[in-house]
Amino acid sequence: MEQFLFSNNLCTNRLGIELTVMSPSAINGNGPDKSGQQPALEEELPNLSLEDVEPATLAIHADDVLNSIEDVAPPIHVSTTFRYPKDPDLLKPFHEEHDGRYEQHIYSRHTTHSSTRLEAILASLLRAPCLTYSSGLSALHALLTFLNPKAIAIGDGYHGSHGVLDLHKRLTGCKILPLDCKPEDLGEGDLICLETPVNPTGNAFSIQHYADVAHSRAAYLSVDSTFAPPPLQDPFRWGADVVMHSGTKYIGGHSDMLCGILAVKRKEWLPRMLEDRLYLGSVMGGLEGWLGVRSIRTLELRVKRQSETAMQIVDALESALSGHTVGTGLSQGDVEAVRAVVVEVKHASLQASDMSWLRKQMPNGYGPVFSIVTKTSDLARRLPSKLQLFHHATSLGGVESLIEWRTMTDSTVEKTLMRVSIGIEDSRDLLNDLLQGFRAVAEEIKK
Ligand code: PLP
Repeated sequence: MEQFLFSNNLCTNRLGIELTVMSPSAINGNGPDKSGQQPALEEELPNLSLEDVEPATLAIHADDVLNSIEDVAPPIHVSTTFRYPKDPDLLKPFHEEHDGRYEQHIYSRHTTHSSTRLEAILASLLRAPCLTYSSGLSALHALLTFLNPKAIAIGDGYHGSHGVLDLHKRLTGCKILPLDCKPEDLGEGDLICLETPVNPTGNAFSIQHYADVAHSRAAYLSVDSTFAPPPLQDPFRWGADVVMHSGTKYIGGHSDMLCGILAVKRKEWLPRMLEDRLYLGSVMGGLEGWLGVRSIRTLELRVKRQSETAMQIVDALESALSGHTVGTGLSQGDVEAVRAVVVEVKHASLQASDMSWLRKQMPNGYGPVFSIVTKTSDLARRLPSKLQLFHHATSLGGVESLIEWRTMTDSTVEKTLMRVSIGIEDSRDLLNDLLQGFRAVAEEIKK
């Protein structure tokens, strides 16, 4: 029998993961029973030990504890407000509850059904307590607000994250340092913000290395693991204090919802972070939370396939560039098509000299995003118009493959850089589409 210990709206399962979930009675809107006691949990909870099952099973069942109505598919809840108990003796003012936590949903800027279920599943997959936010950037903003570091070290990566740091600097005067700053420039409570694999190239960095640097100064390490969601990478294993995701990408997986996620090693941080979020107001909407629960069920299937396909395509392109094409199925014409357009492919799988740590850090694949450097910026500008299966659009993580002439939204990169996000289409179809695109764009340029 799974043991969930409810402490107001934080409950702990046997993995020691604290979930910001309501008791089943609260989820059903019934409130605590008349005696004010928690319900007999053993009678209400399914006979499931989360310790004994794999992530693919957790993605389907980690929120069973919150599912005590008959519906198999989670209902869509859109209400922003929830009725208090009818019985006057059960009315407990919010401020009289310790830690600002409460036993039932009150108002959706605090907690609500679908995002709470999503957090329960995320906590089991990320193996740490989690909160969701309205977007990846609002999650980063919430983290900076919570930690309020005096210095933040950050490297290349998603340009929007730098925008959030600039905003924080404007308000607090904090220092922004390069990722590889001198460790002595960091002090207690400061933060290293690592993104790996990094946007837009897909190259990876050693989490353990930056965890050691941060901890040698009593600073924290946050890892933006958006490009390597479960089951590809577990940053906590390598020393991360906080794991961040733009859930808009692989957790959502269908390019139709915004979501941010913070998972934290220290469960004692959660009540304050929950209170901060209440005042920041950066919560997911009810529909987005529902889409998140629906989507995360298939996370492992999608991500494994997307990562495998990316690796096959990266392999083929790199083989064409290096001339090692035996066994790849590429014809001489294919090789010429690649070489006419591409000068370099970037992806974590190509970091041969880093494999001693990288193979351990990413044991299940090197991620579904890679980048291509073209010979000229004109080739990069024109290539998307020649592709049939890749949409020319920003973002990543969806079931549909995307390609972006990255300069469209990122002023910091070379105009020869294309970012590719692999979807769940057939890998050979995607490679063929790229090959015919290379041929077509090279022809057009010749004219
Ligand atoms: N972190 C990374 C690595 C990203 O790629 C993105 C968005 O592309 C973000 C954070 C921001 O996420 P969101 O768009 O959900 O705010």
